[in-house]
Amino acid sequence: MGGVPAKMDEIMSIAAKHHVPVLEDSAQALGATYKGKPLGTLGQMGIYSLDIGKIITTGEGGVVVTNNRDYYLKAREYSDHGHEQNPKVPRGEDTRTTWGFNYKTTEFLGAVGLAQLKKLDMILQKQKDNKKRLKDGLMAIPGIEFREIPDMAGDASDTLIFFASSREKASAWAKKLATRGVGTKNLPDAVNWHYAGTWTHIFSDYPEYKGKDLEQVWPKSTGYLRRAIALPVMVQMIDERIDTIIKAVIETAKEI
Ligand SMILES: *Cc1c(COP(=O)(O)O)cnc(C)c1O
Repeated sequence: MGGVPAKMDEIMSIAAKHHVPVLEDSAQALGATYKGKPLGTLGQMGIYSLDIGKIITTGEGGVVVTNNRDYYLKAREYSDHGHEQNPKVPRGEDTRTTWGFNYKTTEFLGAVGLAQLKKLDMILQKQKDNKKRLKDGLMAIPGIEFREIPDMAGDASDTLIFFASSREKASAWAKKLATRGVGTKNLPDAVNWHYAGTWTHIFSDYPEYKGKDLEQVWPKSTGYLRRAIALPVMVQMIDERIDTIIKAVIETAKEI
C-alpha cells in the first residue's frame, strides 16, 4: 500500500507452509521492490492499477503479471468473455471452457501506457526526492511516529504516513491541516472505502463474521489505520510547496 512493500518474506513463508497461492495487490506499487525484486513478481500473480491515482496511468485499467502459464491463460479467458483465443479456429468460432467478463483493454490505452512507462524512472526518482525532503523536515516534530517500511531501498511511496496518538486526534489533524491548505490522501479521510473492517456488506456472507463489528475483529489493523495520516507526495512538487507543508504540519503538531 502506498508504494511500500509488505513483509514479503513472512507472508511467503506462511503461504508456503499452508500451500496458499499469494496474489499480490501491487496496485499502488509499480516500480517498488522488496529485497531487490519488483513487487508484483514475488507471489504467484501480481497486479498493477493504471487508474488515474496510481504511479502511472492510462486513465483506467490495469495489468496482471504472472510467470505461471495456466494462471495467465485463466486471467486472459476471464477478461475476454471466457474465450480461450484458440489458435485453431477463427475468432468467431472461439472455444470456451468457462465464463468471463469483458475486461479487455484497448490499443489506445496501450499506447498511453507505453508513453507513461518511459516516465516511470523519473516519476519514482522525483517522488523519492520529494518524500525525503518532506520526511527530513518532519523529523523536527518530537516523537513523530512514521509507518514502518520493511525495505527502505524498495520504497516507491507516493505518500508519507505518520500516526496520531488516537483515532479522534487523526480526524483533528486532517481538519487542521485542511484549514492550512494541506490535504491528506485517503487516510484518515477515506479509510472507510479502503479498510475491510468497514465492509460489513461483504463479510456478512461469512457466518463467522456475520453481525460482528469487524473493526473489533481486527483490532491491530483498526488501530493503525484509524490513527494514520497520509500526506500525498507528488511528482511536480516544488521545494517551496514542500516547505509550506512541513511548516503546516509542525504548527499543527504544536496544537494537537
Ligand atoms: C487502486 C487500487 C485497486 C483497484 O485498482 P483499479 O484499477 O481501480 O481496479 C486495488 N487495490 C489497491 C491497493 C489500489 O490502490
